Amino acid sequence: MEAIYLDHSATTPTDPEVLGAMMRYFANHFGNPSSIHRFGQEAKRAVDEARGQVAAMIGADAAEIVFTGGGTEADNMALMGTAFAETSGKNHIITSAIEHHAVLNTCKYLETKGFAVTYLPVDGEGVVNPEDVQRALTEKTFLISIMHANNEIGTIEPLSEIAFMARERGVIVHTDAVQSVGKIPVNVNELGVDLLSLAGHKLYGPKGTGALYVRRNTPIAPILFGGHQESGRRTGTENVPGIVGLGKACEIAARDLPGQMDRMLGLRNRLEMQIMEKIADVRVNGHPFRRLPHILSVSFRSITGDAIVRELDKQGIAASAGAACTAETIRLSHVLEAVQIPKDIAMGTVRFSLGKGNTEAQIDRVAQVLPEIINKLRSLAELEASMGTRGCR
Ligand SMILES: *Cc1c(COP(=O)(O)O)cnc(C)c1O
Repeated sequence: MEAIYLDHSATTPTDPEVLGAMMRYFANHFGNPSSIHRFGQEAKRAVDEARGQVAAMIGADAAEIVFTGGGTEADNMALMGTAFAETSGKNHIITSAIEHHAVLNTCKYLETKGFAVTYLPVDGEGVVNPEDVQRALTEKTFLISIMHANNEIGTIEPLSEIAFMARERGVIVHTDAVQSVGKIPVNVNELGVDLLSLAGHKLYGPKGTGALYVRRNTPIAPILFGGHQESGRRTGTENVPGIVGLGKACEIAARDLPGQMDRMLGLRNRLEMQIMEKIADVRVNGHPFRRLPHILSVSFRSITGDAIVRELDKQGIAASAGAACTAETIRLSHVLEAVQIPKDIAMGTVRFSLGKGNTEAQIDRVAQVLPEIINKLRSLAELEASMGTRGCR
């Protein structure tokens, strides 16, 4: 049985070209970029090249890229760094209810340190209303952090509109673009953002690598303390192989973007259409077209996403659920809570996230297996309901 991986929003396989580029920096070119000898300078050149590759893919200058230990760290640095650099007495942050936990939990932490946070709601398609942002702005607001595209349902946020308003008020704009970078065109100037987070392992690069774009003159304090690396913005000896891998991954993603976008869209629509055709009581989540091309979030009424994902796994198909069973109760993800789909539907949410390695034949196999799984689980659920033993399964 061929394994079919449809969980690219959780992580992607490392591109062989990326792996090849990294290997040399584990083996021969192991120098510390801070060293003045040739070993060090070789490593430094590699880090500089990678910085250029990352900057190029988002329309930034190389000097505006700070390498981090992943997307989570980039988000933490953006929020805490601007919060701790704030000296004019402003303490208000605006974010959304559907952010990644790397943003949400950093906001929660900052609330314990005297900052005030507004968590904006989203509509049924997961869209933040720019007018809500406008209304939430106060004299005290110094930062808006709204994700570029959501990792569970794929909705792309109206970021440039939001950033435009923020600009007029002198408010810093951060966006978590971990899911969108490398999947759709991302340009920091078109979006009008001051800070942007990205992560290597979501775009066929290595895990534990990422970057924060910091627009020139954006006040940001370090969150780690030590040496002078990354111009004092992120201390610690550079993860040279990881940085090289991230750079290569960005170069490849930028090169292949238009073709891959079309391909993902074709495969995603192929899956979506077959599911809608073959299965009753299904709902597709997210915005109908302002949505990442590789994400398909679908909800199947009356059963749980957990159970569907387990059955798919038995067939060699990897996807992820939007609701988890904990101690006999179903807990929806914060994103599904925020879009306010009825619980009976939301609990049956499965996210299929596609990637470069997927083929039409794989999609067709999923579309063939899925109806049988759904039917089986629904009959079971009915049986259990009739016996009054319905638990969380
Ligand atoms: C994966 C992800 C992160 C976290 O990035 P890591 O590199 O895994 O720490 C942050 N935000 C979004 C939207 C993500 O999908």
